[in-house]
Amino acid sequence: MSQIRTIKGTHDILPGETDRWQFLEKIIHDIGSMFGYQEIRTPIFEETKLFSRSVGEDTDIVSKEMYSWKDRDGTDLTLRPELTAPVVRSFIQHSLGTSAPVQRLYYIGPSFRRERPQKGRQRQFHQFGFEAFGSGNPEQDAEIIAIAWQILSELKLNESTALQLNSIGSKDCRMAYREALKEFIRPNLDQFSEISQKRFNTNPLRIMDTKAAHEKKILEGAPSISEFYSDEDTRHLESVQNFLSVMNIPFGFNPGLVRGLDYYTRTVFEFTSDLLGAQDALLGGGRYDNLVETLGGRYTPGIGFAAGMERFLMVMKGSGQKSTISKAFIYFVCSNEEILPTALFLSDGLRKAGFSVITDPLRRSMKAQMREANKLNARYALILGDTEVEQNTIQVKDLKVGDQVSISQSDLIHHFQHLTK
Ligand code: AMP
Repeated sequence: MSQIRTIKGTHDILPGETDRWQFLEKIIHDIGSMFGYQEIRTPIFEETKLFSRSVGEDTDIVSKEMYSWKDRDGTDLTLRPELTAPVVRSFIQHSLGTSAPVQRLYYIGPSFRRERPQKGRQRQFHQFGFEAFGSGNPEQDAEIIAIAWQILSELKLNESTALQLNSIGSKDCRMAYREALKEFIRPNLDQFSEISQKRFNTNPLRIMDTKAAHEKKILEGAPSISEFYSDEDTRHLESVQNFLSVMNIPFGFNPGLVRGLDYYTRTVFEFTSDLLGAQDALLGGGRYDNLVETLGGRYTPGIGFAAGMERFLMVMKGSGQKSTISKAFIYFVCSNEEILPTALFLSDGLRKAGFSVITDPLRRSMKAQMREANKLNARYALILGDTEVEQNTIQVKDLKVGDQVSISQSDLIHHFQHLTK
């Protein structure tokens, strides 16, 4: 009798390997709680239209890589090829947006794509990812990227990875760019492949993703999306870059980065690794301000990333040590937009020292932020106003005991190390 084996592109994770998986999962859980994110678990299969409507009909994923079938009652079902769409579906279905103005979620689990298997590319692979709903502000983009950076740092992978950043503008910007790009391509359209010609009508931006050398050559003089940014798009991008610099996160600006999925708006980013071969994308993400609405919910801006667990494990050396993240839960109350860089710098320092810190990406009043800190059961509130910034101090309020002290900003980490000893 012939032996039954795993299906092409799928792998057993054997006992000798599971400790490394558990180690990586632990880091993801720990960093998730350090930033105040909670885990969400959604089903492995969903209605097919969830992915065709969000990821996009003419993307590789939807057009040729999904495992889809008709259920006995005629419903079209699909093994999830990614998790953002399922998380958004769940967010809408359970009205998660009504229970808190910012929802911070993360996930870990298998995804399925019928790609040609090769090193770093499986048909069943595992992803982890983070999604934040509710804030369209650039500090939220910076926080999502900081989470990715923190995970890479914890795994000592930050030296071998590079962050590429781009903005693909808001919807109006992309509409105008789309037309300009079509005008540019039209005279040479017959020299493009069948697939690019199809994309010309459905999604011309994706033609910029082409790998074909002769198409790349024609596209060399193509207009750049940055020429079509609105003032707000430009400001948003500049703020994201500024906040990343405050947190010492190195990045490169790559105007060619468009990413394959249809739902992105403004910020898109990707971390690639020197230690991977041809499939060098370790983690990718972006802002998706219209996705909740596209899938039938109320307008809610969002941003997130997804990363491949197998690719992480390929580049991680050894089995790692125990993570040292502390649970002391701090809510950072920031009084106005001007002092955001100081707030981001200080909370980043606290997290690097192992403390769990939540910041408000909605720029709400200090009163509303204090209310939120209590609602989330934070143990401490850090209060930063203009006076504190002027004097290089910060107020530390113990929310359990109720007392409040003013300390020097340079003593902040030391103060918390002492408090939690
Ligand atoms: P994407 O949703 O395509 O942006 O993918 C996010 C991340 O998932 C990538 O950066 C990879 O690390 C990982 N990934 C995507 N497709 C595969 C695959 N077929 N096999 C293994 N990892 C993958």
